[in-house]
Amino acid sequence: MTLESIMLPGINTQRPMVIAGPCSAETEEQVMAAARKLASFGIKIFRAGIWKPRTKPGGFEGVGAAGLPWLKRVKEETGMYISTEVATKDHVLEALNAGIDLLWIGARTTVNPFAVQEIADALKGVDIPVLVKNPVNPDLELWIGAIERLQGAGICRIGAIHRGFSSYDKKIYRNLPLWHIPIELRRRLPDLPIFCDPSHIGGKRELIAPLSQQAMDLNFDGLIIETHCDPDNAWSDACQQITPDVLDYVLNLLVIRDANQTTENLSELRRQIDQIDEQLLELLAKRMRISKEIGIYKKEHNMPILQTPRYNEILEKRSHLGESMELSPDFITEILKEIHEESVRQQVIVMNER
Ligand code: PEP
Ligand code: MN
Repeated sequence: MTLESIMLPGINTQRPMVIAGPCSAETEEQVMAAARKLASFGIKIFRAGIWKPRTKPGGFEGVGAAGLPWLKRVKEETGMYISTEVATKDHVLEALNAGIDLLWIGARTTVNPFAVQEIADALKGVDIPVLVKNPVNPDLELWIGAIERLQGAGICRIGAIHRGFSSYDKKIYRNLPLWHIPIELRRRLPDLPIFCDPSHIGGKRELIAPLSQQAMDLNFDGLIIETHCDPDNAWSDACQQITPDVLDYVLNLLVIRDANQTTENLSELRRQIDQIDEQLLELLAKRMRISKEIGIYKKEHNMPILQTPRYNEILEKRSHLGESMELSPDFITEILKEIHEESVRQQVIVMNER
């Protein structure tokens, strides 16, 4: 079982191993309240961000080292293991001094080989589990490279966290899951425990349960879930945190399937369908955006919205193309009509604006 390689004494190595706690440590009271509640539900590993990488300056960048004694108190009072994110050598040294039990490297750090090497060097000779989040960009080699840098420093208790990949297009997820990437990571490094971070993938509370189930269905080993007693008022990532009670509910609902059961093929096919539908929706959204741009162009150049020769050309070419892919021409025509109608509607809106 891959989870054994993380070796945290006293922790059950049955799937899923759960890490929970707030996105950020905000105050000692907030940290302790979340920790006590989580401990009462049997959670054994507590997370809290102390140093927060933020896209723009001026936001809440974490309480910094001042929060480390709060985590220490969590450990003393609840017996939970404590974990936090490190991005520099100084973070590593301060975290180790404070008795942090498990470290993770954030997505914005994994992309930077200099930063990962600095962390690996600071960890030489230290025996602590380190989880490596995927880089923000969908680059498996970069993810594996970061793992290799830690291995090179003699760290043996390593795991990965899949937290999704950022993309510029509007999407259902905050970070696209691109499940094939962690699946390929599992194929390349079969003994590496892989955690899923449904909070950062979904970016929304309501996606935490389905993403966690999907991760379990894909044989992930663990889950790291942002949990806060008052999520709406969290100082960071408010939309994606759940209360400890909801976490307990979500975890109890999870179905942990036996990897060998016969319906596995069906689930795999359904997962593929889900993924394709998501891609179709994203493409449709992209197509509509381009239609609107065309609408702006037409408006600026005083052109009419409907240009019949272009519409006929679309219908004819696409239905031939569809036929060559064994799609019924009626089906394709029907779909294209609907899409075209919506495009025209969007362009009418643009024409009437401003
Ligand atoms: C986090 O776990 O709070 C975090 C900052 O995550 P990521 O590096 O995945 O954005
Ligand atoms: Mn967060």
